[in-house]
Amino acid sequence: MAFAFTLTAQTPAAGKTTLVIPAGAQAGPNFNVETATRAYLNTMSPEKKARSDAYFEGGYWLILWDFLYGAAVSLVLLQSRFSARMRDLASRIARPRFLTTWVYWLFYSVVMFVLGLPLAVYEGFVREHRYGLSNQSIGAWFGDELKGLALACILGGIVVAVLFTAVRRLPRTWHIWGAILTLLFLTVGSLIAPVFIAPMFNKYTLLEDASIRDPTLRMARANGIPATKVYQVDASRQSKRVSANVSGFLGTERITLNDNLLKRASPEAIMAVMGHEMGHYVLNHVYTGLLFFLVVVVIFFWGMRKLLEWSLARWGERWGIAGVTDPAVIPLAALILAAFSFVFTPIGNTFTRSQEYEADIFGINASRQPDGFAEAALLLGEYRKLAPSPLEEFIFFDHPSGRTRIYSAMRWRAENQ
Ligand SMILES: [Zn+2]
Repeated sequence: MAFAFTLTAQTPAAGKTTLVIPAGAQAGPNFNVETATRAYLNTMSPEKKARSDAYFEGGYWLILWDFLYGAAVSLVLLQSRFSARMRDLASRIARPRFLTTWVYWLFYSVVMFVLGLPLAVYEGFVREHRYGLSNQSIGAWFGDELKGLALACILGGIVVAVLFTAVRRLPRTWHIWGAILTLLFLTVGSLIAPVFIAPMFNKYTLLEDASIRDPTLRMARANGIPATKVYQVDASRQSKRVSANVSGFLGTERITLNDNLLKRASPEAIMAVMGHEMGHYVLNHVYTGLLFFLVVVVIFFWGMRKLLEWSLARWGERWGIAGVTDPAVIPLAALILAAFSFVFTPIGNTFTRSQEYEADIFGINASRQPDGFAEAALLLGEYRKLAPSPLEEFIFFDHPSGRTRIYSAMRWRAENQ
């Protein structure tokens, strides 16, 4: 567990900016929650707001295009029997079925990587630069993509090969074991992610700046968190986004501040963000998240089984797929997974957003920095639409919108003047 931050002292290293409270949000006998919220929202210029809205709304469409493109690619791989041919080649290279599956997975991952590249370049590089959110050169970006591919080949390959072993050995109940194994993989994944995976992409260091670290650790102790360290990450290697996160599980948990936040936010805002991250920890969001995911995964595997059996009975022969134990079925499974995730988007987002809202409330109470919190919400508003419609927020937002967050902060302030 780790954190960082500063409350009053201004230091040259971090928390450099000064908190500015707009006129309409100043404390006083006439303080009004709605007016104060609007005053904060109005500090963002119309041009900046239009830019952020366009960026975020473009993301709605990308969910659809990603799904449709992925579905089309999967159908082509099946219909052209390209998948069956990759399976034939894989079984010639490696006889044992565990290894055949793994080799198939390597082929499949590389093919999907290559076919997905145009969309990935647009989404991850061109678009990010167009909106001024990226700091990366194309070479550095592509390097990160290759690391991701290597991880998918190795770790993804283990997961897929183990799942197929379960399908072969437990033909009647594989959907139940598949769900349990997936949850197990997810748990192990969140355990090792901050220690082994995240450092492959960024540099994590201990936050040394006492003016930020010490108040953060005080807040942690005050809330029963046994933290002695705060981490910082060089997120500016990739982007300009302000962010912080809690990661890890069973002893590897930590709070990490990104350097953009340290550079661009006031001490009050940094403290409010730290309070939020501590909220995730104190409210056991990792554990409730895993429980939620268990239910989702059980439903998903049951549906996966039904849909695989139904599709293979109809088209299995045409696709050259022997059955559910045949790795050539992977594009079909990927298509079902993509369709499920697509439909599941609002439910998943609503679960996450509810947790984020809880962490917001916790953070405002723990830090007692409603204006710092509003400032942080505005910084996040650079890449997340500030004031969406309620339906938009329900479907697309995995965090509360800036307006919801600022409103929560001003409501707290109205009662704590
Ligand atoms: Zn959060």
